[in-house]
Amino acid sequence: MTDEFDVIVVGAGLAGCAAAIRLAKGGANVLLAERGSEPGAKNLSGGVFWGHDLDSILPNWWHEMPLERHIVRKRFGFLTADRALSIDFEDGDWRKEPYVGHSVLRARTDAWLAHQAEAAGATVVPSVPVDRLNWEGNRVHGVVQGGETMTAPVTIIADGANSRLTLGTPIRPESHLPPEATELGIKEVLRLDPALIEDRFQVGPGEGHAEEWVTGMFPPGVLAGGFLYTNRDTVSLGLIVNIASLYDRGVYSTDLVEQFKLHPTIASRLKGAELVEYGAKLLSTGWASRPAAFHGDGWMIAGDAAGFVFSNGLVIQGMNYAVRSGLAAAETALEAKSGGNASAARLAAYDHRLETSGVLGDFRDFERLDRVKWNPRIYAEYPKLVTELFHAMMTETGAPKQKMWKLAMETRKSSGVSMTRLIRDGVEVLWNA
Ligand SMILES: Cc1cc2nc3c(=O)[nH]c(=O)nc-3n(C[C@H](O)[C@H](O)[C@H](O)COP(=O)(O)OP(=O)(O)OC[C@H]3O[C@@H](n4cnc5c(N)ncnc54)[C@H](O)[C@@H]3O)c2cc1C
Repeated sequence: MTDEFDVIVVGAGLAGCAAAIRLAKGGANVLLAERGSEPGAKNLSGGVFWGHDLDSILPNWWHEMPLERHIVRKRFGFLTADRALSIDFEDGDWRKEPYVGHSVLRARTDAWLAHQAEAAGATVVPSVPVDRLNWEGNRVHGVVQGGETMTAPVTIIADGANSRLTLGTPIRPESHLPPEATELGIKEVLRLDPALIEDRFQVGPGEGHAEEWVTGMFPPGVLAGGFLYTNRDTVSLGLIVNIASLYDRGVYSTDLVEQFKLHPTIASRLKGAELVEYGAKLLSTGWASRPAAFHGDGWMIAGDAAGFVFSNGLVIQGMNYAVRSGLAAAETALEAKSGGNASAARLAAYDHRLETSGVLGDFRDFERLDRVKWNPRIYAEYPKLVTELFHAMMTETGAPKQKMWKLAMETRKSSGVSMTRLIRDGVEVLWNA
């Protein structure tokens, strides 16, 4: 029996769409199956998209794609219950065309990308929740959905974090991902007049502002980072939460977002904003969420499903790796098609591409990042310590002035963090992040 398709791609997120576009443009008969009622319907991202990986398949993507605002400023800081300390980074290069980073809303971008795949000749089918991979011994030979088998010599698995298609299979023998392999992303989209966005975030028309916060304001033990991105006429904000830190604490993630939103530094800029969307989604955590292999007989795994999300507190980047790995899988599938061979040995070229394009290195080299990023002191003690120090330096009380080093030493002492711990944590961050 001949196969119905050359390649089946599961999931019309960034990885799946990028792969399908490349495959269709390369002349492959490709099926892109998406479980959502339309591509993007089930997707949720903060999100700042660094899109240069699309250049090879969509040279004018930054002109044509439905993007929100091009980012001209990034802010990073610490929040405690009533204080905030931050630094802003602005880069002239970010104001020049082609802009490098854009805020995006996935319902729009993914639908547009899937449309590009269709225009290039791919068969895009929404509302198709693939039930499982079609295993024939050690080989994946297409997928099964609603009792029907669709076959192809190559299947690209791009079904996102918590990849259900692979759990409990040789690709991911475990039945569910361990806590260290996922984080919880919670996001709200709030409508706000574009003129108010530009005024409150001090950006020009079309320009965007992005911020990330270490939040030292939640119940003890809860570890979470906050983000806020400006879109055209909305603001995306939310938290990335260490799931294990919520266990047995009786804390609801929705309450945490509400608390973040009500912080004076955040709330002051959201006055009058109206909630239009709420969502929660799991994120992969890089090396800790990698599968047993990235390819095998008849299959490759890309994007979040392969664990490719990089987040170090300053940045969260997964969409770029999704595109890059999707393209690497597509190139490998095209080679397999022309050679008439989709064996594991042939698809090993995928790992080589992941290696040479820097994807694997970016995750392997940062293996210890999670340990550093979720160090409880970063949330419980350091936001308090640094904001306390700035409070002491900035507030005039009439008390005798103190030199900065002395204030720093005293603040550190009263925080209870030992000098050794402070130095160790600092070195660990610099070394591993
Ligand atoms: C709150 C939050 C904020 C984020 N912020 C950023 C950011 O600012 N910048 C950034 O670069 N990244 C960010 N990320 C990460 C980014 O969203 C992901 O890395 C990216 O979406 C991965 O793309 P993907 O195509 O691999 O997976 P996804 O985008 O998850 O796409 C997977 C697709 O597969 C479909 N699917 C799943 N199962 C099936 C099935 N059985 N059958 C058919 N279809 C299926 C899904 O519906 C979905 O459309 C954020 C993530 C979250 C949760």
